[in-house]
Amino acid sequence: MSDSQNMSDEVRARLRAIPSVNELLAEWPVVKAAGETCDAVVHSAVTAELDEERAAIRAGAAPRSKRELASAIEWRAHRSALPSLRPAVNATGVVIHTNLGRAPLAESAAKAVAEVARGYSTLEYSVDTCSRGSRKEHAAQLIRSLTGAEDALVVNNNAAAVLLVLATHAAGKEVIVSRGELVEIGGSFRIPDVMEASGAKLIEVGATNRTHLGDYERAITPETAMILKVHPSNYRIEGFHEEVSSRELAALAHKHGLLFYEDQGSGALLPDDILVRGGEETTPASVAAGLDIVSCSGDKLLGAAQAGIIMGRRNLVQACGSHPLMRALRPGKLALAALEAT
Ligand SMILES: *Cc1c(COP(=O)(O)O)cnc(C)c1O
Repeated sequence: MSDSQNMSDEVRARLRAIPSVNELLAEWPVVKAAGETCDAVVHSAVTAELDEERAAIRAGAAPRSKRELASAIEWRAHRSALPSLRPAVNATGVVIHTNLGRAPLAESAAKAVAEVARGYSTLEYSVDTCSRGSRKEHAAQLIRSLTGAEDALVVNNNAAAVLLVLATHAAGKEVIVSRGELVEIGGSFRIPDVMEASGAKLIEVGATNRTHLGDYERAITPETAMILKVHPSNYRIEGFHEEVSSRELAALAHKHGLLFYEDQGSGALLPDDILVRGGEETTPASVAAGLDIVSCSGDKLLGAAQAGIIMGRRNLVQACGSHPLMRALRPGKLALAALEAT
């Protein structure tokens, strides 16, 4: 009892001895920090450091000197004056790292962004007709040429593309998807949740490791609008595994008057070993195979700005562009400048 009494007397004495706010504000490192940042930043740094000091002393720590507190405050002030979004070094080995800002832009793309960032631009102005233009045209022509798609539409990111395609073409209807493809893409963000948010009803078929054509066919009802295939971007099912190819699914969908939509995630413009070994197709090949709608991430596909790209039959893509959600999902001038330049 007397021990703990002594302890708290000592703690009380230590708490009383903590320098005051005014004393700390007069210390040189703190004065200097105020000059380099601003008074408000330094004041909150002093308060935060003092709160931390009191808590540490109550927990039994030795008190810090006035000088130590002052330099801790200086450091804290400088840290809090830094932008929270700033360059970082990616040493993870993952090239397109979601936590580290995904794709670094090419120099020419960064330059294009800086150019439209500084001033006005032709975002919704047509130089040809000297009148109002459409922001949907930027990059769309290039994507059409690169992929052979009849039409292309750019939105904020691929999650937005999935949301918009389903909201436009399957809201209130059923969409059939394999249980092996219900992807979580990090940050506890699940593609099925995005799909549900579109108003479409997901009909899951097959088992996690195997889904057959018959599974899809049996799930078709008068309420079905679409068959969906989602690329399992960040995992692979090996061993006793079977999935149905996009071509077979597209044929099945068309036989029943349904749409077929493939969410490719990364997509690919050119074939490489990994793609060929995985039995996958490039985005242009998918488009050429007559898939109604294909979408992918602009930054995963091209290393461009974060963007979602919807490609496919003209009337289907244009319907997406006219959906009211498009206003909420459309990209800004910086993303479009980076995408087009890339
Ligand atoms: C990455 C990914 C998404 C989401 O794309 P974002 O551009 O991150 O929104 C959707 N579907 C698949 C299959 C993906 O790989």
